Amino acid sequence: MAPSTVDLLKEELPVVQESLVLSGDVKTGLVLVDVVNGFCTVGAGNLAPRQPDKQISGMVDESVRLAREFCDKNWPVFAFLDSHHPDIPEHPYPPHCIAGTDEAKLVPALQWLENEASATLRCKDCIDGFVGSIEKDGSNVFLDWVKNNQIKKILVGGICTDICVLDFVCSALSARNRGFLAPLEDVIIYSQGCATFDLPIHIARTLKDAVAHPQELMHHIGLYIAKGRGAKVASEVTFGE
Ligand SMILES: [Zn+2]
Repeated sequence: MAPSTVDLLKEELPVVQESLVLSGDVKTGLVLVDVVNGFCTVGAGNLAPRQPDKQISGMVDESVRLAREFCDKNWPVFAFLDSHHPDIPEHPYPPHCIAGTDEAKLVPALQWLENEASATLRCKDCIDGFVGSIEKDGSNVFLDWVKNNQIKKILVGGICTDICVLDFVCSALSARNRGFLAPLEDVIIYSQGCATFDLPIHIARTLKDAVAHPQELMHHIGLYIAKGRGAKVASEVTFGE
C-alpha cells in the first residue's frame, strides 16, 4: 500500500515525544482545554463531532484519567471552558458553546470536576486561554494559579490540538520566557490527551465556504508547531513515586 499523505508528512516533520513519569517531587499542574460538550459530545452543536470520533473520545478518556489522578493527589487542575455571549460571534466559527447551554459545560464524564477543591474552572470567550484568563483589572487567573500553586510544569491536554491548545501553549511559553510565569519551567503537551476535529477535503468540497481540516494531519501539525515554540511533547503519562 502506498504511504498516506499523513505518513509522508510525519516523516518530513517528525515530532519527537517522550514518556512522562509524574511524581510529587516536581510541582505539576494539569491544564485541560475546552473538554466541553460543544466540541466533544456527538451531535451537541455546530462544532461538535457528527459521529463517534476515536481521537476525540480517546482525548476525553485521557482527560478524565489524568484529572482523577491529579485530584486524588491534591495536585492542581485548571480547566478552560469555551463560553460565548449569544450576541458576540467568534469569526470565522459558527455559533458554538453559548454561555448557559449544555455545549458550554464540561462533558458528562468530567462534570464532577466542578465540585473539586483542587480544580479551577475558567470560562473563556476567545481561542487563546491565556488571553481569556485576563480580568478587567489586568490580572490573569491562569498566571495567579501558577504562582499560587508554585507550579513548575504544566501538562496540557484538550481540544483542538492546532487551535485552542496550540494558542494557549504558545502564549504560556512567551509569558514564561519573559519571566511572568515563575516558577514555571516546562510546558508539556500530552499528544494522546489532545484531539482536533475532522473535516476531510472530500466533505469540505461539498460545503460552501468550508476549509478542509483533516484530523490526523492537523493534530500532528499542532504538535509540531508547539514543539517548535519550545513545548515538550509526551506520548504517554504515568505516575510514579
Ligand atoms: Zn469559541
